[in-house]
Amino acid sequence: MKLLCIEDNKNLVASLKDSLGDKYKVTVAQTGEKGINQALSSKYDLIILDLGLPDMSGSEVCKAIRRANVSTPILVLSGTTESASKATLLNLGADDYVSKPFDGLELSARLKALRRRGNHFGGGVSNLLKIYDVVLDPISRTVTRDGKLIDLRRKEFDILEYLIRNQNRVVTRDMILSSVWENDNELWDNTVYVHVKHLRDKIDRPFERKLIRTVYGVGYTINHSVVSKK
Ligand code: CA
Repeated sequence: MKLLCIEDNKNLVASLKDSLGDKYKVTVAQTGEKGINQALSSKYDLIILDLGLPDMSGSEVCKAIRRANVSTPILVLSGTTESASKATLLNLGADDYVSKPFDGLELSARLKALRRRGNHFGGGVSNLLKIYDVVLDPISRTVTRDGKLIDLRRKEFDILEYLIRNQNRVVTRDMILSSVWENDNELWDNTVYVHVKHLRDKIDRPFERKLIRTVYGVGYTINHSVVSKK
């Protein structure tokens, strides 16, 4: 397994090599320019990309690599907690990100997941669930729409994840109940209705294009091909 690490922080590189060295053959590039040259000149299984490089931003590096049609999965190391820049990176073709400081185990789990997907689907496919301009990360449990972080409560997040995993299909209230609530006894007749309403207030109401549709008498569907007039 060949891994390209584009990162200028020597301490971080040393600890990455320590924790990943027995699984990956790690090549290090300390500037964006060197990183791009490496990515284009030899074949890697994975790329780790730092956002803050001395000569250019990580997003420029990402864009340049994708523009050259290199589809190697890219995991971004983000020093910022700003969701907008993460969403931008994902739009530029990064596959996943980890915020600094990060846990070595989480990093290697994410790399493993990216590699597995890369092998099966030919690269460039991420862990993230997407529909239209909504990006949901099931691991960090964050959701953005149009680059803005949307703050969802736990059940609202679970419902959205379930809808996106079943996008373009109609799911019934019973399906949502059994997937999201499992062993919960505190349910009443309009539980699903109320939670979907709150979810819509956050994920759909502020935006022109409505994604969650009610299928009367049946349930709900999430679908981006329908423009609601609501
Ligand atoms: Ca840096």
